[in-house]
Amino acid sequence: MTTSGFDIRPTAHPTDPAIREQILGNAGFGRYFTDHMAHIRWTADAGWHGREVRPYGPLTLDPAAAVLHYGQEIFEGVKAYRHADGSVWTFRPEKNAERFRASARRLALPELSDEDFIGSLKALLAQDSAWVPTPRDGEETSLYLRPFMIASETFLGVRPSKEVDYYVIASPAGAYFKGGVKPVSIWLSSNYKRAAPGGTGYAKCGGNYAASLAAQKEAEAHQCDQVAFLDAVENRWIEELGGMNLFFVYKDGRIVTPQLTGTILEGVTRDSILELAREEGLTPEERHISIDEWREGAASGELVEVFACGTAAVVTPVGELVSEDERLRLSGDNGGEYAKRLRTRLLDLQYGRSEDKRGWLTRLA
Ligand SMILES: *Cc1c(COP(=O)(O)O)cnc(C)c1O
Repeated sequence: MTTSGFDIRPTAHPTDPAIREQILGNAGFGRYFTDHMAHIRWTADAGWHGREVRPYGPLTLDPAAAVLHYGQEIFEGVKAYRHADGSVWTFRPEKNAERFRASARRLALPELSDEDFIGSLKALLAQDSAWVPTPRDGEETSLYLRPFMIASETFLGVRPSKEVDYYVIASPAGAYFKGGVKPVSIWLSSNYKRAAPGGTGYAKCGGNYAASLAAQKEAEAHQCDQVAFLDAVENRWIEELGGMNLFFVYKDGRIVTPQLTGTILEGVTRDSILELAREEGLTPEERHISIDEWREGAASGELVEVFACGTAAVVTPVGELVSEDERLRLSGDNGGEYAKRLRTRLLDLQYGRSEDKRGWLTRLA
């Protein structure tokens, strides 16, 4: 049996439907996985081959596999949404496919075509579509898809791997915020930087996350939820959070996000919000924004909202910015009105509750 070139090897031990329903009812995030995974192998000699959907389970890797030593790895994050008629869709997957290729180039990994990237999502969903939760009463449940690529060659020399494996695993996701969206507090890291010019900031690679964990620990020690990073050169320009992009809304209707300079991850949510903001009557700007602009805007009341965005949490209001010597709250805080509206706009599109005028949705099942 094949689905668009993928050999299908169904599991002999599918999850009992009653247990699956129990999991879907209280999924949390990243804790449970579906019955199958998609896989494509690459070798320098044969290119991409061996497309398959096989039972979910542990990988067999040689202890000398390059990824375990030098971190040659990239990943993506995409969601599958169930619409009211039961069909399953994903949001702008060609943007993720394009970014996955940009990440691959930076990490000296082979590039995967749109056809294989989107085809692998479809092939996996053809087996595991029952794992896409049905949202009730506007709940934000979905199936989180995690494509990733690893250097699997057994070799301790330092050079790009000649053997690579690409996988997609899937994990049911409940609402990111139980009991509604609540503003997060942000720690402004002064000890750590996320990305430097010429580095890997724009690539979605595990190494960036590994390097952000010490800063995240520092944030938690100060009772903060997330970390905001400043640029590595001047220690002055706001870049992003560890895994989300940032937006700033002004009283006069401007909505500003840091411009892409190679040190910021190009979020699909970020790009979508830049477009949807116009429909809310906002004027989007991509430019440098300094930590002093945040301070002054907060004090004067000109800055009325700060929010973070990404596929996992969608849109998250930022309540306060905390550092060693200050605690910054917005004096003109409007209660996160635009964050709420943009969040609703995005979710309505993703769950098929509003018209998809831009062709942003792709059907998976
Ligand atoms: C994935 C990610 C984002 C958000 O990107 P989306 O495409 O919107 O999910 C932002 N920043 C970092 C560092 C990321 O890894």
